[in-house]
Amino acid sequence: MTTTLPPGNLVPDLTDVDALAGDALVADAVAAHAPWSADRVGALGREVWAPETIATARDAHRFLPELRTHDRLGNRSDTVDFHPAYHRLMAQGFGHGVHALSWTAGEPGSHLARAVLSYLWNQIDGATACPTGMAYAAIPTLRETPELADFARLTAVHGYDPSFRPVGEKTAATIGYAMTEKQGGSDLRANVTTAAPVAQRGAGQPYLLNGHKWFCSAPMSDGFFTVARTEAGPGCFFVPRWRPDGTVNGIVLNRLKDKLGNRANASSEIEYHDAWAVLVGEEGRGVRTILTSSDYTRLDFAIGSAGLMRAALSQALFYADRRSAFGARLSALPVQAAVLADLVLEWAGATVLALRLARTLDLQNSHNAVEERLLGRILTPVAKYWNCKRAPLVVEEAIECVGGNAYIEEHPLPRYYREAPLNAIWEGTANMMVLDIERVLAREPKAVEPFLDEIRDVAAGEPRLIAALADLETSVTVRAPVGRRLTTQLALAMQAALLVRHAPAAVADAFCATRLEGDWLPTFGTLPPGADAAGILAFGRLDWA
Ligand SMILES: Cc1cc2nc3c(=O)[nH]c(=O)nc-3n(C[C@H](O)[C@H](O)[C@H](O)COP(=O)(O)OP(=O)(O)OC[C@H]3O[C@@H](n4cnc5c(N)ncnc54)[C@H](O)[C@@H]3O)c2cc1C
Repeated sequence: MTTTLPPGNLVPDLTDVDALAGDALVADAVAAHAPWSADRVGALGREVWAPETIATARDAHRFLPELRTHDRLGNRSDTVDFHPAYHRLMAQGFGHGVHALSWTAGEPGSHLARAVLSYLWNQIDGATACPTGMAYAAIPTLRETPELADFARLTAVHGYDPSFRPVGEKTAATIGYAMTEKQGGSDLRANVTTAAPVAQRGAGQPYLLNGHKWFCSAPMSDGFFTVARTEAGPGCFFVPRWRPDGTVNGIVLNRLKDKLGNRANASSEIEYHDAWAVLVGEEGRGVRTILTSSDYTRLDFAIGSAGLMRAALSQALFYADRRSAFGARLSALPVQAAVLADLVLEWAGATVLALRLARTLDLQNSHNAVEERLLGRILTPVAKYWNCKRAPLVVEEAIECVGGNAYIEEHPLPRYYREAPLNAIWEGTANMMVLDIERVLAREPKAVEPFLDEIRDVAAGEPRLIAALADLETSVTVRAPVGRRLTTQLALAMQAALLVRHAPAAVADAFCATRLEGDWLPTFGTLPPGADAAGILAFGRLDWA
């Protein structure tokens, strides 16, 4: 007996669509700067909306990790059990090299290519994007530390080995970062965990760590970068899960956090009890050492948030192209089309910002190396700040675009919604990014010139960009606190310049009118009357029939 009516106007799932087909901003960037990677990124692009990928991501977030403090005989175990879906995701992401392509490809444009993999991966799952991002950031530091050669080699492998064994017995490794303590995560200099040398002090020497970390995600990683106090101040240490003598290291897992989102990824509270660790860099310079990898994680969150926006946008557009109300497709209703078009602008701005940041890393050996380094110095906190701040707003609006059906857990949007605020919190909150820019401008005011040059290069012919540039030129020379105001202005001007360069006129024009000229109100869908919403929507759509 039929118990429900036929689906009628209900929209089927977005599946079997190539996540790169129609995403011109990203596909063009790959073609221009990393054409050798087209097959690789194309392969992942086809998996993003594959039914089995979507089902695996959903299961990984339904069947959550469980802490095993002890084994059946009462011995301490300090391990985490994950559902097979989590392991399948990890194998898929690490297998594609989402964590490592930039370090393994040996080709020009490899940071951009890996950033595109991460953009795609974040459309699949944010929880496993945490370990992929940490591994990406860790590889250069591991490679620079001779004592960690095994970890360097195995972390760069395009593969996944979840077994809990000493790293020398494994085929691949994953890496975590355990920095945050109870008293605060932003101010790492306040860390109270202690480190005492086993024998000699100095880089590469073993120390014993005692203390705690209030947040330690992916605790089943094979080793962790961490910060602990030495006689000379904070030091950066690498703590393997196993000691060199083949015994389990002194890391106690007290608890797994019950988190808002990112739930498939275990985040733990840990203690070090004489945990064996290797000093990385010098004693007293630990915060600086650990922050050398933050350029990579911050890029990863900027591109990850752009990916999350893309996923939410794809859901909203796909739905609006199929659902009807009042006798028309939702995407053809003017008020709704304006909302969707505004979301396209937001995603497009976020995407070009993050891709340009990835390019700065690729160009650091080019003839423009100095300029690119300085550009990256400002662009990193700007992109991390702005993309991570905007993602939750985009996801929220995308949910409303789909309506009640997106408020139901069978739909992927609730998962994106819970994921969205996280990227702003870790690896430097919004205010930390603002203070970082303030520090650069105070110490090295000329550092902002390559950033402004990037805008100057395309400003001629776009009066709104010329005006924004003039404002910035004045603001950056005034010795006043940077604040979120100037940081936001930097982000918007750079996004506009990049869209003028890379996007169709309809997109760049509406972006400049709204985000630069201020012909906009503080909610999506308030585009000026002359905006070409249909043209913008056409640019935002993937190639679905
Ligand atoms: C799901 C999840 C997983 C995590 N995983 C890890 C992990 O694996 N490893 C790890 O080390 N950490 C991890 N963290 C912790 C994360 O890095 C911290 O939460 C983050 O660094 C912020 O630190 P805090 O929470 O202690 O906030 P605080 O540092 O106390 O800051 C609170 C607020 O005050 C603001 N603030 C602080 N100082 C200033 C200032 N000088 N001026 C202006 N504003 C200021 C901040 O911007 C923030 O808004 C995780 C967090 C979450 C939510």
